[in-house]
Amino acid sequence: MNNIDEKLRPILAEVARRNAGEPEFHQAVHEVMESLGRVVAKHPDYLEQALIERICEPERQIIFRIPWVDDQGNVQINRGFRVQFNSSLGPYKGGMRFHPSVNLGIIKFLGFEQTFKNALSGLPIGGGKGGTDFDPKNKSDGEIMRFCQSLMIELHRHLGEQTDVPAGDIGVGGREIGYMFGQYKRLTNRYESGVFTGKDIAYGGSRARTEATGFGNTYFTKAMLETRQTDFDGKRVVVSGAGNVAIHTIEKVQSFGGTVIACSDSSGYIIDEAGIDLALLQEVKSVRRERISEYARLRGNGVRFVPVGKGSVWDLPCDVAMPSATQNELTGKDAKTLVKNGVLAVGEGANMPCTPEAIRILREAGILFGPGKAANAGGVATSALEMQQNASRDRWSFEQTEQRLAQIMKSIHDRCAETADEYGAPGDYVLGANIAGFVRVAKAMRMLGVI
Ligand code: NDP
Repeated sequence: MNNIDEKLRPILAEVARRNAGEPEFHQAVHEVMESLGRVVAKHPDYLEQALIERICEPERQIIFRIPWVDDQGNVQINRGFRVQFNSSLGPYKGGMRFHPSVNLGIIKFLGFEQTFKNALSGLPIGGGKGGTDFDPKNKSDGEIMRFCQSLMIELHRHLGEQTDVPAGDIGVGGREIGYMFGQYKRLTNRYESGVFTGKDIAYGGSRARTEATGFGNTYFTKAMLETRQTDFDGKRVVVSGAGNVAIHTIEKVQSFGGTVIACSDSSGYIIDEAGIDLALLQEVKSVRRERISEYARLRGNGVRFVPVGKGSVWDLPCDVAMPSATQNELTGKDAKTLVKNGVLAVGEGANMPCTPEAIRILREAGILFGPGKAANAGGVATSALEMQQNASRDRWSFEQTEQRLAQIMKSIHDRCAETADEYGAPGDYVLGANIAGFVRVAKAMRMLGVI
């Protein structure tokens, strides 16, 4: 608690007490509290009306049973979650995660982060998140569909385009969104396009939504590099993950002239010094849904596969690191290696991928560090653009949508940088993002009264 302002310590202690056994949620709240000391020193009125305590408490938490029948006729049971964290700026907005590690604490951490991220985007969206411990790996298409339909039988009553608008996250892509939206439409008898984002273009999706998180992190990281008069051209880049965010990060970095030499999945990582063959990676991971070692086998060409447990992708010397898999995947040890190897910038594509120790090491070493709630906000920002297109029955071109995304990322970057300057910590994007997000939510909450 040493780095927490003493006025905020009791609030943090109370969050730990009433949310026992939820380490990821504590970690996310702790990180924001570290930044808020400077805010309450300047504006003590934010301590009134239990405003900060209310920001740390979700408005509503829903936990439900999801029974479904597998291909062998056995009944399976999973647990579903939706945490509606904060609706002071707009309807709850945040993705659904399908992964066996999902529990209430993880969904709360994601919903809390999402609230500030959505505020930072400058768009009228509140924060929420959901998920389930269902493992979509090795399931048939029929099993995925029946699971999504069962989940939606319960969840649909809590959603609505003015109420709560889910999207994808780990394990949830276009296929799952389609099944969930289809069941929602059937249950409600309403074609409410704006109730889900990340939809396919065929039925109300936005162009560039699939690409938006990875593209957005690349734009944000480019803006950070530009503050040191450099860019991606000729840089060696390491990206972790091989899912939606990672793949579109690799695509955009390559278009800016960078060479992505490695990426990973939960089975290990591959090193391809010539630069990753994006079409092959997409074929292996997104189409065939295989392990990443298959990429090394098919590509040949001296590409190596390193299985999990035999080293870290962050051991590879690189100029830019873009963690894009999952939370706490880049540790203090990894951060030390990156610094020793001369990394210039780290842009978080995933949510909270760097541990607190890793962030401390990177910041102390003066590495440009883009925290997820700013750097990966391009996904949710483009979701808000999808809602805008649905509401006006309009469809924008890819170029128009990407241009909006690029502007939004630049303005998020500048807002973080200006806020960091204003609060006496130039170049500190963590502080800038936390404070700018907090202030926007807190101002709205104050005007709405004690609710
Ligand atoms: P995907 O499911 O498409 O991809 C996730 C990737 O990360 C996969 O390659 C997966 O490997 C790997 N991965 C997942 N868990 C682990 C783990 N425990 N250890 C190692 N690798 C792991 O998800 P997304 O790309 O959509 O999401 C990635 C991150 O980005 C998440 O933190 C998410 O919250 C965040 N994010 C996503 C947004 C979006 O628009 N999709 C928006 C903002 C943030 P495998 O294939 O083996 O499972």
